[in-house]
Amino acid sequence: MSSAYQECIDPKCRLRYDIRDFRLTCSKGHPLDVKYSSRPNIELGIFSMRRNHGSNIYNESGVWRFRNFINFCSIDTENYEECARYLVSLDGAEGRLSKPFKMSKVAEYVGVHKDNLFLQPEGYNPSGSFKDNGMATALTHAKLLNVKKIVCASTGNTSASAAMYASNEGMGCEVYVPRGEIAIGKLGQALQFGAQVIEVDGNFDDALAMMLREASSNAYVVNSVNPFRLEGQKTIVYRILEYLDWESPDWLVYPGGALGNTSSAGKCLMELYEWGFIKKIPRLAVINAEGADTLYKLYNGIFNGVRLRWKDGSVDLSLIDEYYRYMDKNNIKPRTDATAIQIGKPANLLKGLRALEFTDGVVEVVSDKEMYDGMAIVGLNGFDCELASGAVPAGIKKLREQEIIKKDDVVVGILTGRQKDPNIVINYHLNPANRFAVTPKRYSKVTVK
Ligand SMILES: *Cc1c(COP(=O)(O)O)cnc(C)c1O
Ligand SMILES: [Zn+2]
Repeated sequence: MSSAYQECIDPKCRLRYDIRDFRLTCSKGHPLDVKYSSRPNIELGIFSMRRNHGSNIYNESGVWRFRNFINFCSIDTENYEECARYLVSLDGAEGRLSKPFKMSKVAEYVGVHKDNLFLQPEGYNPSGSFKDNGMATALTHAKLLNVKKIVCASTGNTSASAAMYASNEGMGCEVYVPRGEIAIGKLGQALQFGAQVIEVDGNFDDALAMMLREASSNAYVVNSVNPFRLEGQKTIVYRILEYLDWESPDWLVYPGGALGNTSSAGKCLMELYEWGFIKKIPRLAVINAEGADTLYKLYNGIFNGVRLRWKDGSVDLSLIDEYYRYMDKNNIKPRTDATAIQIGKPANLLKGLRALEFTDGVVEVVSDKEMYDGMAIVGLNGFDCELASGAVPAGIKKLREQEIIKKDDVVVGILTGRQKDPNIVINYHLNPANRFAVTPKRYSKVTVK
């Protein structure tokens, strides 16, 4: 059993805090990691053995099944009573059904061999998105701190997940959302689970800024700037690796919004590599929407010709400042139909850069039209995903066309969430000009002969 602590990610700072402290940055304003003082002393086989869960919900859960790798409560992970006292779970539902699936029609569309392409539908989580992986761990930390109320800003899925977990745990929940800019189904979930919704005029970046300003100082923030949430999201990668017998794929592909997932995947791989559980590091591909392409522009040197890099912690912060000032001055707002990734100032940019450096990652950009087609072809394979997740097949296709992803590479993409706005699908299919549209037939009158 290893003990855990929090540590600043800046190699020149590295301030440390107790696991029971709640803060979003070190005292100098740098992001924090959850760290473990020693390598988990386990055999990887234990995780698949737990799939025979014998109605132990901590084995049934696709998050807590991997509790040895996210043991920040420092509990005896084999002791059911101790797990029950500490770990927050929706009766084992989070991450339980998500694993990589083969999708032959998507494979053909994106140009990857059908046996080498896998997509993992995180929409199979209880609230319908990958956010539940992290909410289980964030609320576990909140419970450790005896928190009574959680708070978040959200493009929709975070608020749905937070509200679901908070109501089940008997905690209060406040969610700040950009008014009119979140999918109707997500807003409905937050209300249904009894959260106090605060609608902010503006976009997600405004809602986040407002939340950080307004939220009472004792409220517990569950946005992805919370390092305990990112611990839970590491299990997305564990499930992939487990399915592949812990043989790393060549690529992991995520849509990029606030870059919580990117950051979490990076940290997960850094740990597994350092602890010797994997020999090969998969490359991360992060896919931005054209209308919300801050990472794409900065990473690829499209703004000012300088490529923004982690450089072992020596990030050119002035370049980021300059870009944000340029956005503000010219009133450039993120604009895409994929509201889940309609983010101009990704809160986890620094950790995202660290992840890209460690994995020799790439950042690509796709149009809304490409995302629509990506979403639609996933549907034709019998899987349901939202528009932001459509960025994944769209991005893989684009990277294949440039031969960045090679013909025989093994590629795993994350379908981040399930469709919560049926009008998006209906409108796509009503327009016969869309590549995969199956337009409904209409009869004006039924005549009986
Ligand atoms: C939150 C969300 C994203 C963005 O993920 P980040 O970790 O913020 O980059 C992408 N897709 C869906 C469906 C989401 O809910
Ligand atoms: Zn620091």
